[in-house]
Amino acid sequence: MKSISLDLNVSSKDYLSKQTVLDEISCKGILEQGGMVFCKTKPNTKVKIGRSISDFYYETSSSDGNIIIGFDRDERDNFVEVNGHRLDFIIPKRDYSISKIDGLPPSQVSSFNEEQLKKIKISSRKKTQGFASRQTKMGFKNGFINPLKNMNKTSPFGSQRILNGITKKPHYGVDIAAEIGTKIYAPADGVISLSDDDLYFEGSMVLIDHGQGLISMYLHTEKNLVFEGEHVKQGQLIATVGSKGRSTGPHLCWRLKWRNRNLDPEILIRWPKDDKK
Ligand SMILES: [Zn+2]
Repeated sequence: MKSISLDLNVSSKDYLSKQTVLDEISCKGILEQGGMVFCKTKPNTKVKIGRSISDFYYETSSSDGNIIIGFDRDERDNFVEVNGHRLDFIIPKRDYSISKIDGLPPSQVSSFNEEQLKKIKISSRKKTQGFASRQTKMGFKNGFINPLKNMNKTSPFGSQRILNGITKKPHYGVDIAAEIGTKIYAPADGVISLSDDDLYFEGSMVLIDHGQGLISMYLHTEKNLVFEGEHVKQGQLIATVGSKGRSTGPHLCWRLKWRNRNLDPEILIRWPKDDKK
């Protein structure tokens, strides 16, 4: 079996190099909120992943002994444990852009009519299905590339607004302004787990399953150029930029999920290539 060794110098803030790498499991990656680590253990091994004694779950490593763990926007402490041996991740707090806007006229509570509710329900069912996809093959051994040639970012991962004192849900996407029709490329290999142009909020969206529970999302597209179940390669054209669904103008909303956790897609651009293939 070939072993995978990733460069430790992913970013200045990283890394686990100072921590004891256990015989049972060793992890490398980007130890930041919105980041991800890659762990190596014995094949098909039960790994406990958690935040505390009462908040944990089990995951089984792949037949290559790989396992990845993503960290949510506000994740602080995490650990992995194999056969009673535990590796702790202490994740530093990250600053997010928070904008406070006061004195707004009281907004009308958005309510949906029956037809809209029906569409929301159908959309949600499709998304659940797309997110349930679980490819085991890791599609990101060549790292990640940007989905657009020009990354004209207008909103970073995790930004939040406080309107009239009411804290809104954080925005988990990276918004990139681009003209309608701009080409969107797959940042890493994967399998299309959703390609749908009739979703209520997202309008039109593509999901790529990169394996190991990592799924990237492309919202408000004009045209999807891939079909569900299709295998895509890094750099392959998958869709074009649009403004469908709940969108204020042409842009790509790029998101990344690891299981139910929201990751920062931009962080993965720093994910190293595996040179030892
Ligand atoms: Zn967005």
